[in-house]
Amino acid sequence: MAASNMETTNLLKRKLSNENNEQASKKIFRSNPRDKTRNCPYLDTINRNLLDFDFEKLCSVSISRINVYACLVCGKYFQGRGTNTHAYMHSVQAGHHVFLNLQTLRFYCIPDNYEIIDSSLDDITYVLKPTFTEREIAVLDLNDKLSRAYNGTTYMPGIVGLNNIKANDYCNVILQALSHVPPLRDFFLREDSGGGHPLVQRFGELLRKLWNPRNFKAHVSPHEMLQAVVLCSKKAFQITQQGDPIAFLSWFLNSLHSALNGTKKRNSSVIYSTFQGSLRIHTRTLLPIDATEEEKQQLMEDEDYEDKVEDTRFLYLTLDLPPPPLFKDELTENIIPQVPLSSILAKFNGQQEREYKTYKDSKMKRFQVTTLPPYLILFIKRFTKNTFFIEKNNTIVNFPIKNVDFTEIFQPEQRDKKHAIYDLIANIVHDGEPGPGKGTYRTHILHRGSGKWYEMQDLHVTEILPPMITLSEAYIQIWERKSEESLSKNGS
Ligand SMILES: [Zn+2]
Repeated sequence: MAASNMETTNLLKRKLSNENNEQASKKIFRSNPRDKTRNCPYLDTINRNLLDFDFEKLCSVSISRINVYACLVCGKYFQGRGTNTHAYMHSVQAGHHVFLNLQTLRFYCIPDNYEIIDSSLDDITYVLKPTFTEREIAVLDLNDKLSRAYNGTTYMPGIVGLNNIKANDYCNVILQALSHVPPLRDFFLREDSGGGHPLVQRFGELLRKLWNPRNFKAHVSPHEMLQAVVLCSKKAFQITQQGDPIAFLSWFLNSLHSALNGTKKRNSSVIYSTFQGSLRIHTRTLLPIDATEEEKQQLMEDEDYEDKVEDTRFLYLTLDLPPPPLFKDELTENIIPQVPLSSILAKFNGQQEREYKTYKDSKMKRFQVTTLPPYLILFIKRFTKNTFFIEKNNTIVNFPIKNVDFTEIFQPEQRDKKHAIYDLIANIVHDGEPGPGKGTYRTHILHRGSGKWYEMQDLHVTEILPPMITLSEAYIQIWERKSEESLSKNGS
């Protein structure tokens, strides 16, 4: 009994003295937070060139995601900061002392284990987690000034290369293109757009990094974004295997829409309010050619054979290219076939009837665009699958990149129509081997602040002259409806 009482007393004493010590150290810290900072002698050991916060926040030793710190001297990630943790061991073994908690964004000196509060470290916090005020978002598209990265390279915020980790250029072109659709970009630049869904969170983080005017390097790795894609698509889209950007775009937009609690209503998510248009489909089913007159009479009473009108919505329109000439003579052999955009868009003017065969019958369909979205996505179908191989149609689509009146094309008959003038803002191109899962993708992007066009292919970013854009094999395009103001300003 006596012994155990003694032990309890000792324990209590020890506990009290620990608490006193803790309070004492807290008191010192609280009274002189600045002194503590000024006293941290290791701030000049930080190497900003080695800092990269784009990769998964995992301890490099334990692979744990919990309580991870970045060593600001060598850039590596380690878990914990107390005695015998990986960060602690690293600080002792390597002699590196300044660490950043990647979750709380607080700086610590290890192994001494005190917090560093110093505004000279704000640039590091900003690179880890860039934020945008409403005012900054409002003036993004007026900026034409280059930013300077820590290593001296210059870049235009928003016009920033994305790493190709293995075969993810089909994702990169979509992420780049979407990052230049203002309503979508602005929504995701605001921090509260979260909601906790990994796709929403990662896309927001990626956009804030792409538009960060104070980045340490002139490129961004989409690693964390793509991991969320692999996970959420249950590996339908991978980093290690080339995919089809239109399949990825369609999946991504629909997934974001549902992650943002979107419903069937047009304004229920930023995705629908930005990209959704509506379409009327007229269908008539053809009577079998070999049926007798009597059979035909009977079938016509069947409701399957009644003409049908269906109203539906779309996030993009699929355009068909005319078949390339089968036989080429010497003269035309090297001539690449061309087609005006307006003639392939005529598929949706409600005038052209197209035949669609199913296993049991043939249907004639007419498509009529009834509502155009603020941002119209066009998909130019270049690949056709035969029994044995995939063929690519190399036809070049001719289009003006500015001032295209889509109402004129979609509703030529309609009187008193409202004009809808659109400008091209993004153009995704396929190069190389036939097949959406083969070859490579690059994208052309309009930078509004400077009015210049850029070509981006993973990390490569170059300025491009507008006439070059129309010479490429366009695959996906995004068009923007001009506002009333910009129309009256231009006098068009
Ligand atoms: Zn280190």
